[in-house]
Amino acid sequence: QSSSGKNQHVAVLAFPFGCHPWPLLNLTSRLASTAPDVSFSFLNTAKSNRKLSATSGAHLPHNLRSYDVADGVPEGRVLTPENPLEELDLFLEAAPESFRKGMDMAVAETGQKKITCILNDAFLVFGCDMAADMHAKWVPLYVPAPYDLSAYIYSALIHETYAKACGGGEAHDAIPGLSVMRFGDLPQEILDQGNHSNSSPILARELHRIREVLPRANAVVMNSFQELNSTILTDDLKSKFQDILYVGFLTLIFPTPPLPPSHSDATGCLPWLDEQKPTSVAYISFGTVAAVPPHEFAALAEALEASCVPFLWSLRENFKAFLPNGFLERTRKQGKIVPWAPQAHVLSHKVVGVYVTHCGYNSVFESIVGEVPMICRPILGDNMMNRRMVEDVWEIGVGVEGGVFTKKGMVKSLELVLGHGQHGRRMREKIRDLKELVVKAAGPDGIASKDFKTLLELISQ
Ligand code: UDP
Repeated sequence: QSSSGKNQHVAVLAFPFGCHPWPLLNLTSRLASTAPDVSFSFLNTAKSNRKLSATSGAHLPHNLRSYDVADGVPEGRVLTPENPLEELDLFLEAAPESFRKGMDMAVAETGQKKITCILNDAFLVFGCDMAADMHAKWVPLYVPAPYDLSAYIYSALIHETYAKACGGGEAHDAIPGLSVMRFGDLPQEILDQGNHSNSSPILARELHRIREVLPRANAVVMNSFQELNSTILTDDLKSKFQDILYVGFLTLIFPTPPLPPSHSDATGCLPWLDEQKPTSVAYISFGTVAAVPPHEFAALAEALEASCVPFLWSLRENFKAFLPNGFLERTRKQGKIVPWAPQAHVLSHKVVGVYVTHCGYNSVFESIVGEVPMICRPILGDNMMNRRMVEDVWEIGVGVEGGVFTKKGMVKSLELVLGHGQHGRRMREKIRDLKELVVKAAGPDGIASKDFKTLLELISQ
């Protein structure tokens, strides 16, 4: 670490939605512990900061301080569950000003230590201009999958080809690294250029600037291991940016530590899992934002009940209303429902035999490291591309029949993955091979170790 580290102050700007703040905080904590002379100011909304401290429980290093920034919600405005995008839009509208004020606060509180680098979630594309105005370095972190970044880089070409094909579902041979994908796998925001009723037009506008802005970054940091991606994708992304650094999966720790003692798990998930048989449990979670349509929830619940498979379901409170009448009472012995599960630990517990997932990028790799094959019901963002990789490229999971949950299809899928047939066995073998690759990539000779050092030098000099 450079002796000039003492003068360095990194402002970290979080995108406070979905899973995004966790990987950024984990990266910042790792950097801060390795560069104790550099000051780190983590700027995030109060609500998201509260959630982070309630769920991560990790102790922040002495040189990392977190600050609350305004969420843009006008005083007295009550957010309604019917319009989940309202909070996002209000935040994004106010964000440049909120973060500017937050940075002023951080500079004042560190004894006027000028900000020398902005490390931010790549979804906050305005970080680029802010860093330029402040003569600071700019380092965005891209949280979704690397092929998702490719899709945004080539969004104009994709949109043009899609329009010509009238929505036909052919592969993207023209785009390096996306040849395995079909139109239907790509984020909806790209296909319809932000005119999508289920997405935020403000976020869509920001995301469309990614391709013009990211090449100005000193380095783009990826929440992935380079070794896991195809050479063609890696080479193409490399050619687009000044530097691209793969620091590994930021919601996972390597080498994998042993599971914490079950009694320390306040959610009760680990003690409940301890009572189950090896490779018998279905874990169900659709991540932090994705919403399965209500009738599909009911079908999934009916399938669980009919199959008698023990299940652990991380289900946000507002979705409980969609469960069939009497389901909770009837399945009290068969399953456990919690509003939040320590997912990475759950997936590493030996009794979990299948993960019913929306295919979020972090979740997929937590499942791989836990050696748990998946039943995939992708919903938004990079989910569909991740499903394509899980099912067709890595062959470690199956998509739900017809793309939606039905009672019959789901009973079949559970039997396929949990049963003793060849298909389930084969998926388990493949997932072990992929895990080995991840473990090797996370080791001292992997690219992540080298790229992390490069990142450390970049921010501390
Ligand atoms: N997660 C968790 N407990 C839950 C639900 C989700 O710990 O009950 C974590 C999960 O381990 C993962 C993140 O939330 O790290 C979800 O990220 P992902 O990229 O899979 O999906 P997203 O929420 O962005 O759609």
